[in-house]
Amino acid sequence: MKAAEIRQTFLKFFESKGHQIVASSPVVPGDDPTLLFTNAGMNQFKDVFLGFDKRAYTRATTSQKCIRAGGKHNDLDNVGYTARHHTFFEMLGNFSFGDYFKHDAISYAWELLTKHFHLPAEKLWVTVYAEDDEAYEIWNKVVGVPAERIVRIGDNKGGRYMSDNFWMMGDTGPCGPCTEIFYDHGPEVAGGPPGSPNEDGDRYIEIWNNVFMQFNRTEDGVMHKLPKPSVDTGMGLERLAAVLQHVHSNYEIDTFVGLLAAAKTAVDGAAPAGNDADKDSPSLKVIADHIRACSFTIVDGVIPGNEGRGYVLRRIARRAIRHGYKLGARKPFFHQIVAELVNQMGDAYPELRQAQTRVTEVLKQEEERFFQTIANGMEILEAALAQGHSQVDGETAFKLHDTYGFPVDLTADVCRERGVTVDQAGFEAAMNRQREQARAAGKFKMAAGLEYQGTATAFHGYEHLVCETSKVTAVYVD
Ligand code: ATP
Ligand code: MG
Ligand code: MG
Ligand code: MG
Repeated sequence: MKAAEIRQTFLKFFESKGHQIVASSPVVPGDDPTLLFTNAGMNQFKDVFLGFDKRAYTRATTSQKCIRAGGKHNDLDNVGYTARHHTFFEMLGNFSFGDYFKHDAISYAWELLTKHFHLPAEKLWVTVYAEDDEAYEIWNKVVGVPAERIVRIGDNKGGRYMSDNFWMMGDTGPCGPCTEIFYDHGPEVAGGPPGSPNEDGDRYIEIWNNVFMQFNRTEDGVMHKLPKPSVDTGMGLERLAAVLQHVHSNYEIDTFVGLLAAAKTAVDGAAPAGNDADKDSPSLKVIADHIRACSFTIVDGVIPGNEGRGYVLRRIARRAIRHGYKLGARKPFFHQIVAELVNQMGDAYPELRQAQTRVTEVLKQEEERFFQTIANGMEILEAALAQGHSQVDGETAFKLHDTYGFPVDLTADVCRERGVTVDQAGFEAAMNRQREQARAAGKFKMAAGLEYQGTATAFHGYEHLVCETSKVTAVYVD
């Protein structure tokens, strides 16, 4: 079953259960300053869960464009390393706004997976929040999942409600206990079942999360009960497609085959004659992943820049470009893959096809800019790596950032490939020093009666989010 067909089957199934099919919202959330990018299907319904907004329906289903490259849910560093993470992916979801609750949510999920997608029941594992006896009983007694494949997951990740089975949209907002469905890809893949010490392997892959929305978490950490218990679910389309297409990695599904081929063609075409990029290289996967994230953010109006969303876009684009450089590309190639992306996804998301020329042009410009400095930057980084230390110093990382346009997470990405780390604290110190100097210069200009150019306060909201994204304070505040 192709991804497009899976998407339709999901939406039609929930339509047959009385759900309204609702279009995906943009990846840039319209009016939510707590969110960098849309990270789940429920985002567009946040106010409905909170009771601030009412819809004509109490059941909805969507296929939502999501980006997880910042904020609470950040998978940028997983891409290229796991079989299951993307920066951009599609989340299939069904929602109940004070309508059905645990019993129906679980029953629907099981019916869809086993009767319509024909997944073998014995390959499915489920997890429930440790204290949620009700969900446990429904799985065990109503659905009939044997106790040995139901795992209770508690608050062992650092405090109450820090469990993988207590889902939060961000530090604030709707949240609640959840139950998750995993698919066992078989013993030839490394990794243990959910809840075991080696659960992070890729054998048991989480495919579907059913969240029982019950609370609104406010900034002070207090959990307020929602007006009505609700349901919010999310299933990664690409992960389900991998299962249904009998492949292990998301990158082997139909939508990625064409993108990977286009990425290889573009890289080889931008490299010296005879270049033959390894078609199995993780770098090609990173490029194929990142073209989706970059294109869909540009569709929604983001352009590469030095702060906020624009900086996240720049970081993702430059990471992809660096991976192309690693495979041999010496001139712009990344923007050429947009055409194949439109082939793959333009029908499901017409806004992509409509913006094709603009997306291509924006990426081309960003590439042209970065190709001016990447070779010299890489030389400096290679020289630092050649010293054989276990860490690249903060001053070098700062110089790469400041003079060669290497976001520090890009430097860290190269270092990680070599088993080396970056001195983040040293980098931050150098950044702060520069900020202080800029501030002092700004004050001087003000005092001299020159035009004030500072816009720092406008970006503090994102500064925090971007910090989280890269786990360092790699953010420009002009
Ligand atoms: P994981 O533990 O694998 O990182 P998650 O628990 O962070 O996933 P949820 O927040 O529960 O994911 O999101 C719901 C569903 O969305 C997941 O069950 C998965 O199928 C899908 N999903 C989440 N993150 C990604 C991603 N980065 N790429 C592709 N699919 C994803
Ligand atoms: Mg995750
Ligand atoms: Mg998880
Ligand atoms: Mg999950």
